[in-house]
Amino acid sequence: MSFRDDVRAWLATTPRPDGLHDYGPTPTVDDVPAGRAWQRILADAGYACLHWPARWGGRDATVAEQAAFAEETARAGVPRQLNIVGPDLVGPVLMTYGTAAQQERYLPPIRTGDDLWCQLFSEPDAGSDLAAVRTRAVRVDDGWVVDGQKVWTSGGADAEYGLLLARTGGPGYAGLSVFVVPMTAPGVIVRPLLQMDGESKFNEVFLTGVALPAEALVGVEGGGWAVATATLGRERLSLGANAVSMFRALDDLVDAAAVRGRFDEHLRDRVTDLWIRVWLLRATWERAIAEGAEPGAPAFSVLKLLSSETQRDIGDAGIEALGLDALWSEDEEPLVHRMLVGHAQTILGGTSEIQRNIVAERILGLPRDPYRP
Ligand SMILES: Cc1cc2nc3c(=O)[nH]c(=O)nc-3n(C[C@H](O)[C@H](O)[C@H](O)COP(=O)(O)OP(=O)(O)OC[C@H]3O[C@@H](n4cnc5c(N)ncnc54)[C@H](O)[C@@H]3O)c2cc1C
Repeated sequence: MSFRDDVRAWLATTPRPDGLHDYGPTPTVDDVPAGRAWQRILADAGYACLHWPARWGGRDATVAEQAAFAEETARAGVPRQLNIVGPDLVGPVLMTYGTAAQQERYLPPIRTGDDLWCQLFSEPDAGSDLAAVRTRAVRVDDGWVVDGQKVWTSGGADAEYGLLLARTGGPGYAGLSVFVVPMTAPGVIVRPLLQMDGESKFNEVFLTGVALPAEALVGVEGGGWAVATATLGRERLSLGANAVSMFRALDDLVDAAAVRGRFDEHLRDRVTDLWIRVWLLRATWERAIAEGAEPGAPAFSVLKLLSSETQRDIGDAGIEALGLDALWSEDEEPLVHRMLVGHAQTILGGTSEIQRNIVAERILGLPRDPYRP
């Protein structure tokens, strides 16, 4: 049996925690208990943190195996892990830059779902341009004191730890360092942000005089940019799996339009175009995986663009299918929800404009953006 067959058989026969559903890369506050229980089940079965080495409980899975797992879990309607930050971003970073003590302390509870992590990078005036980060960590006798504000922190309200990007030196990338912050430390205040879809997945985080021990530093002082960039890109491995839910959404959209007598020539053309785009996404993803592209490869910027903009456009087409019903349908109407979150896809993990810059510079060889260092 292939790895994919094993996963499919296991998913078909494994009982799920109550309330578990495919909530995407980040659970809401209500999703966290089921998400943690599911992560424990994945860990016990050897399906948690597949890409981690066996030494830390992973399977040394190839990119193709990780992709197959993401697709099969999407098809089964369950999350592939508790959240993205711990297993996909923090784990690999600690394995590369962390001390032995940091690895022993933090890696096992990420794998079992006992510790949920968040990413404290973006600030009100530093998103695409993280070189503008202003949150400051000042060295004191026995460690560091942190002051500043972060925003758009997914999962921050439930997280045990945050991976913090802060300024320890002068301006620009060279003045940045990365730290581990316990989210319950005195001086850390988390305020959930209410999204237009009614959920509250991300947060503002205020850090006021937060004392961290010397060993909270990850990597070397001033080496934060290398650590931060190592976290970017892994989430793109699951982009092809998005095709599964996009095909499903297109079916729902056609049904919703047909029931309302709205599946006219115009909508049919629009759906056909979207359907072709999802197939293109799937084929491009399969080619990248077959060629052994690593998560940071520019090919994944093409996929990020294709995936997020197609998700956004499917959301918008769904509203056309519902017509006026979109105005008074229940909050949980999946097509309305898809439209409300669709546009966020083109912002998170690097905006569409930033992806286009990457494609232009690294794939097409066009001149570099003159405004970026
Ligand atoms: C759902 C969601 C979850 C998120 N989760 C997290 C999280 O957990 N942790 C975290 O730290 N952050 C998180 N973010 C924040 C995300 O990383 C930022 O929103 C993103 O990097 C863009 O930054 P910004 O919002 O400050 O926009 P800006 O960087 O201010 O950009 C504004 C506009 O200018 C454009 N622009 C900026 N620079 C350029 C350029 N050089 N060339 C061309 N156009 C440019 C952008 O594309 C955009 O259209 C999340 C965002 C979303 C939507």
